[in-house]
Amino acid sequence: MIIDEGSKKIISILNANGYKAYAVGGCVRDALMGKPSCDIDIATNALPEKTAQIMTAENIKIAETGLKHGTVTAVLNHNPYEITTFRKDGDYTDCRHPESVFFVSNIQEDLSRRDFTINAMAYNDEEGIIDLFGGKEDLKNGVIRAVGDADTRFNEDALRIMRALRFASVLGFKLEEKTKKAVFDNKMLLKNIANERIFAELLKLLCGDNALSVLDEYREIIAVIIPELEPAMNCGQNTPWHIYNVYEHIIHAVDAAPKNPVIRLTMLLHDIGKPSVKTTDKNGKDHFRTHAQAGEKIAYEVLKRFKASNEIIQTVTQMVKYHQSVENVDDIRVKRWLARLGAEKTRMLFDVRIADLEAHNPAKIAYEINKLKELKEELEQVVESGEAYRISDLAVNGNDLIKIGLQGREIGETLNEILSLVIDGNLENSKEAILSYIINKHNN
Ligand code: ATP
Ligand code: MG
Repeated sequence: MIIDEGSKKIISILNANGYKAYAVGGCVRDALMGKPSCDIDIATNALPEKTAQIMTAENIKIAETGLKHGTVTAVLNHNPYEITTFRKDGDYTDCRHPESVFFVSNIQEDLSRRDFTINAMAYNDEEGIIDLFGGKEDLKNGVIRAVGDADTRFNEDALRIMRALRFASVLGFKLEEKTKKAVFDNKMLLKNIANERIFAELLKLLCGDNALSVLDEYREIIAVIIPELEPAMNCGQNTPWHIYNVYEHIIHAVDAAPKNPVIRLTMLLHDIGKPSVKTTDKNGKDHFRTHAQAGEKIAYEVLKRFKASNEIIQTVTQMVKYHQSVENVDDIRVKRWLARLGAEKTRMLFDVRIADLEAHNPAKIAYEINKLKELKEELEQVVESGEAYRISDLAVNGNDLIKIGLQGREIGETLNEILSLVIDGNLENSKEAILSYIINKHNN
């Protein structure tokens, strides 16, 4: 039993109606690796309209999302199953969109248009695994190998270059020699690919177990998709704090970070401003003052180009901007950061800084990392205990201040002042204490 009950049911319904059907692609790969699959693809020789009709007749809910691309999404037990008619792609003229999609009558042709051998297997209970290109063997050996001639395949669709790197990172696999050579030979074709599609693959790559070695081995490809990172690749850091050049430091920081796409993306961009502000003093020591502000601007440009969501752009640029502001761990005041960024982003900023430090000279960082871990605990305590760190946490609001005669800008300014006093423990957060403080101040 390598596929789930839902797939079996869909396949047997299609069979009962006289059609062939298989689980294909990623879900077969994952099943062979013993991993659950998020999305399951079924391939069939039934045409889309027919598939829709058959599923509806069996009371299976369908979303006709991609009917004209040959896809019907069936929903069983709340899981989506993408049912696609066997097809092959037509001519590629722009390394991106097949000119047309042709339906074909057999699974063999459908499998041969797929990108890598490990993604080009099909399965059903009746026929077992259909593996025309040695996918099972490559899966066993941890190899990413293009189906057919690698050079041709990357020319047809250069996004496959990013997919190769993504699978290498996520699965911890190596690219087969010819596939690897074709990745480098065709890297410039990535310029023809929509940035948002590259970005989606990049995020997955960054969260893979093997991100460090892929970002290292394929830095030439990274320089094509993020040219702003290229100067970092030759930018030394002669300071006692560092043992790597800027790019090497960056990729070790990615590796040290939690597998959260926003944090990992932050690490990839956190020091992108360093080369542009580097100075070397008369002792030969390097300095990177204001690199965080410079980096914030560059990160913004990169993320805009990738058409990242506003939320990602805002969070990542803030993290890049502030990552150096928490350099001096003894000066970090948790509630101040909470007031500025809120709980979620403060937590993230501490994680960013810990990952950053873990990619520094190991002889220098133990104190800082310990301290940051303590600060993370303090943060959770503050949040849990409900102690005030936002204006909305104060025991008074604007209306209370109006009642005692304050008006206009005075109200906001006073609330900020009160918050500051409360955060620092210099004023009790009760209505009585706050109002009497304000009244006293006005009478003096
Ligand atoms: P994931 O775990 O990310 O879903 P996946 O292998 O299922 O991995 P999808 O993007 O969902 O990847 O694609 C499903 C299948 O379609 C792949 O396994 C592969 O067979 C085929 N495929 C996807 N993109 C391409 C492409 N650009 N060129 C050729 N075949 C592709
Ligand atoms: Mg998939």
